[in-house]
Amino acid sequence: MTAFHDLLARPLRSLRLSVTDRCNLRCSYCMPEEEYAWLPKRDILSFEEMGRLAEIFVALGVDKLRITGGEPLIRRDLEKLLAELARIPGVQDLAMTTNGILLAEKARLLKDAGLHRLTVSLDSLDPERFRRLTRRDDLDRVLVGIDAMIDAGFENSKLYTVVIRGTNEDEILSLLDFAREKQLELRYIEYMDVGGATAWSREQVVTRGEILRTIEKAHGPVEPILEPHSTAPADGFLLADGTRFGVISSTTEPFCGSCDRSRLTADGTWFLCLYARTGVDLRSPIRAGWSKDQLAGLIRRSWMAREDRGAEQRLEQEGRQALAGAEEMKANPHLEMHTRGG
Ligand code: SAM
Ligand code: SF4
Ligand code: SF4
Repeated sequence: MTAFHDLLARPLRSLRLSVTDRCNLRCSYCMPEEEYAWLPKRDILSFEEMGRLAEIFVALGVDKLRITGGEPLIRRDLEKLLAELARIPGVQDLAMTTNGILLAEKARLLKDAGLHRLTVSLDSLDPERFRRLTRRDDLDRVLVGIDAMIDAGFENSKLYTVVIRGTNEDEILSLLDFAREKQLELRYIEYMDVGGATAWSREQVVTRGEILRTIEKAHGPVEPILEPHSTAPADGFLLADGTRFGVISSTTEPFCGSCDRSRLTADGTWFLCLYARTGVDLRSPIRAGWSKDQLAGLIRRSWMAREDRGAEQRLEQEGRQALAGAEEMKANPHLEMHTRGG
């Protein structure tokens, strides 16, 4: 395979595979509405279709796969897909992002299926706040799920926390303590103006600088971990006692210049940027019987025409607001973060 790049010289290395647009939580920054338009069942790719597409992406140079959603663990028999993906030669990193609710039941199955690592989203350790933030009373299940993940022997797993002013910025330190106790790396995420975040405002964004200052006040100087060739979205930091943590500053200090990520929705629409308004339909061609070479050609051509740098462009916008309003997303659910996969 000859290497290829997009118009900004970025290779295609990473694919996020959303296995469902459904979710068992209703996080205020992602699914705040009462009602949603769901992807039609008939459009949802089978595991066989997802596996075939993943294999083509890997043959084109992708070596990192991340399963996401919606909530990936509500897709039945997910371990079967994982086992298939784990067998594809060339996959260096097979990860999953989950809200952790179903982890206690599934962690062992996921490990046995060949999943390498997990990221669990956790925004509060306070049960009442967790309930308000997610509209479900399930903090205990997430905490038990995190322990099950550790017991199952997953290494290099992480916790993700979206920090929102007026909501949970007072838990920056307690969540770091919790992660340290569990020997997990915590990554703080700046609140993003993605589809779904209809209540987003600039004022609610707790910036990377603010997060670092809060931590420095309590723990002394933090040292940046320099990884010159990294394309990871998080910047890593080290505390004097050796604790590592990360900050994903997509909102105030985006990193589009090194972005090698793309996203495939559960219905086979391929988005080349988190903020893209349209994606490439891969479901119709795969169902029309296109060969591997034809599909690979479409993927390659689409990537070579890519010039997206959504987060950087939004930084330049006056009166910045969420990508789309609730009504627009009802008409076009692909704009939703829970559809395209975080
Ligand atoms: N349901 C799973 C979960 O919550 O981990 C996977 C899908 S979720 C869309 C993936 C990640 O996106 C989560 O870590 C979530 O916190 C993050 N996310 C969703 N909306 C966000 C927003 N407006 N700003 C920042 N992160 C967001
Ligand atoms: Fe929350 Fe993830 Fe569900 Fe969105 S997809 S509502 S972030 S659990
Ligand atoms: Fe990549 Fe788009 Fe996110 Fe920029 S905004 S880092 S181009 S996905």
